[in-house]
Amino acid sequence: MSIERVGVVGAGQMGNGIAHVFALAGYDVLMTDVNKDAMDAAVAVIAKNMDRQVGRGLITADQKAEALARISTTPKLTDLGQTDLIIEAATERETVKTAIFEDLVPHLKPSTILTSNTSSISITRLASRTDRPEKFMGFHFMNPVPIMQLVELIRGIATDEPTFKACHAVVERLGKTSATAEDFPAFIVNRILMPMINEAIYTLYEGVGSVLSIDTSLKLGANHPMGPLELADFIGLDTCLAIMNVLHDGLADTKYRPCPLLTKYVEAGWLGRKTQRGFYDYRGDHPVPTR
Ligand code: NAD
Repeated sequence: MSIERVGVVGAGQMGNGIAHVFALAGYDVLMTDVNKDAMDAAVAVIAKNMDRQVGRGLITADQKAEALARISTTPKLTDLGQTDLIIEAATERETVKTAIFEDLVPHLKPSTILTSNTSSISITRLASRTDRPEKFMGFHFMNPVPIMQLVELIRGIATDEPTFKACHAVVERLGKTSATAEDFPAFIVNRILMPMINEAIYTLYEGVGSVLSIDTSLKLGANHPMGPLELADFIGLDTCLAIMNVLHDGLADTKYRPCPLLTKYVEAGWLGRKTQRGFYDYRGDHPVPTR
C-alpha cells in the first residue's frame, strides 16, 4: 500500500499539527473542517509553528516553503475520497465521527485506509460503521503533534496486517515512534493520564489544594514538565470530560467518574487555552489561576 496523499478531517489543534508533520515528511495533505475560519486559522498556525522550527534551526526556510505548498484545504469532505490515508481529527464525539465516516465512504477509493485520532472512542465500533473495517485503525497523535514523539497505533478487532504495517511505516517516515495499544477505552496514554488529571481536579474540588499548589506539587514533587491542571487546559477540558465519560461508560467502574468541577468548567465554556480560560485565565500577559 503506497501512501502519498493524506486527508485530514478537522483543522483544530490536532488537525493542524497532523497536517504540519505530514507535509514536512513529504506527503501531500488535503485538510477539511466544517468551520472555514478553523481551516484558515490552521494554515496560519502551521506557518507560524514552522517559522519557529526555522528559527531554531530544525528545518530550513526552503523545507518550510515546500511543506506549506503541499498543504491544501477544501470545505468539501468528499474531496478527501481520492487520498490514500485519511486521519479523522474532528471533535471528540462519537456521533460527529460516525457521520464523517458515513459521508466519506461512498467517495473513497477501494484502497484508502481510514483512521481516527480519537483519544478514547472504540476503534472497532467506528470501523463497523464503514465499508472497510479491515482497513480501519486508530492513529493517535499526542499534542502538540510537531513536538511529541509518540503515536499510539490501535488495531480494531477487524484491522488486517497490511493496514497495520502501512500505518506503522507512515509513523516511521514521520520520524516518530509508535506504541501499539489494544482497542479498549482510552487505549494506553489516556487510560493512565486522564484519571490522574481527573484526580487533580477532585483535589481542587475538595479544597485539598489550590490550582497553583496542585500544579507546583506535581511539577516539583513528581518531576512532571507540566502540572495536571495546566495540562488539562492544554488538552481542552471538553476533550478531558469526553475521555472520562468514555472510560466511565466503557469500563463501568465508579473510579472513572468525571469530577463535577470538570463538568462545571465545560458547562461554562471555559475549555482551557483554546477559549482563553480554564483552570487558568490566559487573557492577560501571564496565566492567572481561576480558583
Ligand atoms: P479541537 O476542538 O481543537 O478541533 C476539532 C475541530 O473539528 C474543530 O475545528 C471543528 O470545527 C472540527 N469539526 C467538528 N465537526 C466536524 C465535522 N463534522 N467535519 C469536519 N470538521 C469538524 O479539538 P482537538 O483537540 O484538535 O481534538 C480533535 C481530536 O483529536 C479529538 O478526537 C481528540 O480526542 C483527539 N486528540 C486530542 C488531543 C488533545 O490534546 N487535544 C490529543 C490527542 C488526540
